[in-house]
Amino acid sequence: DGGKRPDYLAGLNPEQTEAVETLEGPVLVLAGAGTGKTRVLTTRIAHILNTGRAFPSQILAVTFTNKAAREMKERIALLVGGAVEGMPWLGTFHSIGVKLLRRHAELVGLSSDFTILDTDDVVRLIKQLIQAEGLDDKRWPAKQFAGMIDTWKNKGLGPADIPEGDARAFANGRGRDLYFAYQARLSTLNACDFGDLLMHPIAIFRKNPDLLKEYHGRFRYILVDEYQDTNTAQYMWLRLLAQRPKGEPQNVCCVGDDDQSIYGWRGAEVDNILRFEKDFPGAKVIKLERNYRSTAHILGAAAHLITHNEGRLGKTLFTDRSDPDDVKVQVHASWDSEEEARAIGEEIEQLQRQKHLLNDMAILVRASFQMREFEDRFVTLGLNYRVIGGPRFYERLEIRDAMAYFRLVAQPADDLAFERIINTPKRGLGDTTVRALHDYARARDIPMLAAAADIIETDELKPKARKALFDVIQSFRRWQELLENTPHTELAEQILEESGYTDMWKNDKSAEAPGRLENLKELIRSMESFESMRGFLEHVSLVMDAETNENLDAVSIMTLHSAKGLEFDTVFLPGWEEGLFPHQRSLDESGRAGLEEERRLAYVGITRAKHRCHIWFVSNRRIHGLWQSTLPSRFLDELPETHVEVAEMEQSYGGYGRGGYGQSRFDKAEPFANSYSTPGWKRAQANKSDATRDNWGTRSGHAVERIGYGESGPKGRTIDGE
Ligand code: ATP
Ligand code: MG
Repeated sequence: DGGKRPDYLAGLNPEQTEAVETLEGPVLVLAGAGTGKTRVLTTRIAHILNTGRAFPSQILAVTFTNKAAREMKERIALLVGGAVEGMPWLGTFHSIGVKLLRRHAELVGLSSDFTILDTDDVVRLIKQLIQAEGLDDKRWPAKQFAGMIDTWKNKGLGPADIPEGDARAFANGRGRDLYFAYQARLSTLNACDFGDLLMHPIAIFRKNPDLLKEYHGRFRYILVDEYQDTNTAQYMWLRLLAQRPKGEPQNVCCVGDDDQSIYGWRGAEVDNILRFEKDFPGAKVIKLERNYRSTAHILGAAAHLITHNEGRLGKTLFTDRSDPDDVKVQVHASWDSEEEARAIGEEIEQLQRQKHLLNDMAILVRASFQMREFEDRFVTLGLNYRVIGGPRFYERLEIRDAMAYFRLVAQPADDLAFERIINTPKRGLGDTTVRALHDYARARDIPMLAAAADIIETDELKPKARKALFDVIQSFRRWQELLENTPHTELAEQILEESGYTDMWKNDKSAEAPGRLENLKELIRSMESFESMRGFLEHVSLVMDAETNENLDAVSIMTLHSAKGLEFDTVFLPGWEEGLFPHQRSLDESGRAGLEEERRLAYVGITRAKHRCHIWFVSNRRIHGLWQSTLPSRFLDELPETHVEVAEMEQSYGGYGRGGYGQSRFDKAEPFANSYSTPGWKRAQANKSDATRDNWGTRSGHAVERIGYGESGPKGRTIDGE
């Protein structure tokens, strides 16, 4: 020490510096959006490494997404000059959990090559259990029970821990038994679900104090980003690792923002922030108040909006980023979502003409169905876009089928994979055969593929089925032999060819078939960046971020939820209408708490923007096939006049028979506005152009009336319950 301060510390403000340099003892950084929390974490890791306090493998760092983990790794490498050899314990709770579990699987009765089931597999498995119990799976839907198990696991509750009331809630009191049966079945299958990636390590640490001690020794520094969105199980896991016996160092640093807690619906507990101070007495709490991301208008709009929430810890935010050229947050109105997509497309093209990169623009939607309209429009315009976290590639039917083949080759005990593909393509191995196999396997407690190999030696099956099954088993044996020594992409192609799966789609005359074949090709391509089939399979079971081509200049489209932690020059926020945003479901299910979570989501959305933030609402929206008239979101009325303006647009779109852009739509919205005590600006703006208003004729005059869209749509069911 005593030398010159490293460059990476130079740009930090005093509070950030303190957060980076307080390496000993528990630290909680509680601060608003864009104040540099993530930057502090990254710099802290660089500082730990640079001062030789720990090796990369001795740092446990948790991010919210895989993408964030990748970015953090890259930044750290830049800060310390590229010398970081890996950071094996930097990742999401799930990816770190899976790594721990692979190492110690035998301690919970699994072997280290266990399979991770996705939601679909889980539901199918539960359905089987429900049927096996002789219960009516229509009355007691598997999906519902899968949701209950997920909720329990988010709370860290195993089958033995669930409250009596909860246990009674499903299948006339048999919920707990089913949960036990489910875990037993997973164990037989050598499989686990997502929740187990945390639950199993928790159990392992609790039952094996010596092992836990080893990890205490290993993890000298623990860091957690987006701490406000940890759930109870994650917190338990974290506390086991971070809370040390008296006298041992507890170097844990969590950063978060209670105003950005947006995963309550998935079990996140914002109260974990308060628990931290209780569980780690003497924790240093650091507040960061200067926002480096957004202009004063954007920050002002977001900060004011969030003051409408009651349940807040309360924070101050300021910025000195203001420039006379800064634009206010712009609010736009459109007739419907098609026009909304059209207008946003125009805006983007205009920015592009001014040499702005598409990479710096994002469209953040409340619900993923909103994406399609933008995708369609951008394809028409030839605008590059990427969907992040949308309907995922790996969830498509043909991809799931192909993956089932690969899984079964790599993990022969994977019965769910077996059942998925045994008769896909059709081989004459119908339900009867599958049932026979199932019974045979259950009776002997062996996997179905093994049962199939046995059963063809007997005369249990008809000759035709026996022959077909024989062929399948031969194929799998061959592929399994190739697994170790053939390049995995080659093997994957071979499997899809030889199994007849590719041919099945080639012979399929449906409109989707060509797309599915392309997807299969894309699947093989996506495997290239992995070293082995196993590595690839593990990746797929963990991906939360959609694959994107990072090199392409493209607009990002994603949900508000997946935009957390990100930033863009220009942000478009479409669909600010009552019922969609705030979303009706969260109002119905969680009342005031639901509304506050929606408002935090709005806060997250606005604070993603550095320079330009455009908010849109439409007057008519088609939701689940029905046209509905909509009200502007109450959040619009909660934005401060000083930082917001209603955009005027010059263009008119020919062929629509409607004139100027924004005004008439506000005119339509005006009568609603009163009930939300809309600030004056809205009306003033709306009254500006009488000529335009006239273009709307009678249609605009009686906006209170719920009108469908033209003649085609059914009368809109109103969303706001009027
Ligand atoms: P969020 O709550 O949205 O996750 P955050 O608190 O994690 O935000 P960062 O993403 O770390 O904030 O930082 C926001 C932006 O401000 C980034 O572009 C970051 O590089 C920049 N920034 C942070 N601190 C400084 C600083 N001291 N000087 C200059 N820029 C900074
Ligand atoms: Mg952050």
